[in-house]
Amino acid sequence: MPLTPAPPAPAPPAHAPLTYWCEHAWLGTNVEPGTALDVTDGRITAVRTGVTTPPPGAVTLRGLTLPGLANAHSHAFHRALRGTVQVGSGTFWTWREVMYQVASRLDPDSYFALARAVYAEMALAGITAVGEFHYLHHAPGGTPYADPSAMGEALIAAAAEAGIRITLLDTAYLSSGFGAAPDRHQLRFSDGTAEAWAERASLLKDRDGVRIGAAIHSVRAVPADQLGTVAQWAADRGAPLHVHLSEQTAENDACLAAHGRTPTRLLADHGVLGPRTTGVHNTHLTEEDIALLGGSGTGTCMCPTTERDLADGIGPAVALQRAGSPLSLGSDSHAVIDLLEEARAMELDERLRSRTRGHWTAAALLHAATADGHAALGRPDAGRLETGALADFTTIALDTVRTAGPVPRLAAETAVFAASAADVRHTVVGGRHVVRDGHHARIPDVPRALADSIAALYH
Ligand SMILES: [Zn+2]
Repeated sequence: MPLTPAPPAPAPPAHAPLTYWCEHAWLGTNVEPGTALDVTDGRITAVRTGVTTPPPGAVTLRGLTLPGLANAHSHAFHRALRGTVQVGSGTFWTWREVMYQVASRLDPDSYFALARAVYAEMALAGITAVGEFHYLHHAPGGTPYADPSAMGEALIAAAAEAGIRITLLDTAYLSSGFGAAPDRHQLRFSDGTAEAWAERASLLKDRDGVRIGAAIHSVRAVPADQLGTVAQWAADRGAPLHVHLSEQTAENDACLAAHGRTPTRLLADHGVLGPRTTGVHNTHLTEEDIALLGGSGTGTCMCPTTERDLADGIGPAVALQRAGSPLSLGSDSHAVIDLLEEARAMELDERLRSRTRGHWTAAALLHAATADGHAALGRPDAGRLETGALADFTTIALDTVRTAGPVPRLAAETAVFAASAADVRHTVVGGRHVVRDGHHARIPDVPRALADSIAALYH
């Protein structure tokens, strides 16, 4: 049975001004005590510091308020694998077989139910926008649904129900390897050609809270002579373009064998790189790859909890950023959904590798988790507590067992290096409370929604 969407939460008129008073607010470089955020029509219209007590009628946010977190790389259905893939040994490639089994059981209704719960989990973790790297397009066997956009629209509806913004990165996935046809699992992912992918993707439209972008699954999954078609589609729309890049050395080896060049070089030669493009993982790169990515302004989305979970390796994030590649963060396989953990993992992984500390400040890590993440998802007007920005923010409690203690001016360091998603107290999207006092405003029992939607896939 399709789920009936809950009735919309009572909302003030869109133009009604509202003031949020933040006990502490992170304003990009420093923590300010007593900050009022005036909001009208979903945007911040004023940021007033030195407001020591809540103004009359203001909504009080106790703790540290950050811009809303951006989860720049998600495959919502991977959430159903949590726990089940932690038994036994193996590699990325054996993990992928289990992932395909789960994918084979999803249809538009069951995917809506699962994604609604997963995006609600994200809202509870302070995430206000998700980049959904979506390739599960067709029915098993590859037959299009009566509505060819049914799966993508299910994800868009799920994000709306959960109250977060979505950038649906509609993904071209045409081959199982260099020159190889899709295998039986991958038939669901394939449109046959990049032209057919573009035709279907063009059915999806931007709307309130929704951006449509493009993705190239990987250089394995899109033949080189069709990469330009996807890149051009994104360029025509000014849309974000994402691509899994050099997550595994086996991909590099196969690309070198097939094309005599690295995956990064191949993408560069086909016009895929540039400031609207984000490479996801960017793990096993040559010096030339790093220069190509940085020099073109191509972004890097690191997914440290997934990369360590899948034994991928540690990407050269420091060198990439230094070369000019903006950094964003994603929870990817959803081994955990916690952007604060992703942020500190990027720094802590680098410490383990280099045996030195302090590669990024807490502010720099928060910048990756907020402004640069939203920009990678096609929303340069999000991720800042500034006049004119989208009124998307989240508040981290500073009075929990993990966060109590340090002086408030170090609240950003506490949030990044000690807090977890469990410390998120409020999430506000477009000026409206989505999570209040740790509870989702529209989905009263998110754990139950997760359990039920995941159980349905295993029966
Ligand atoms: Zn991924």
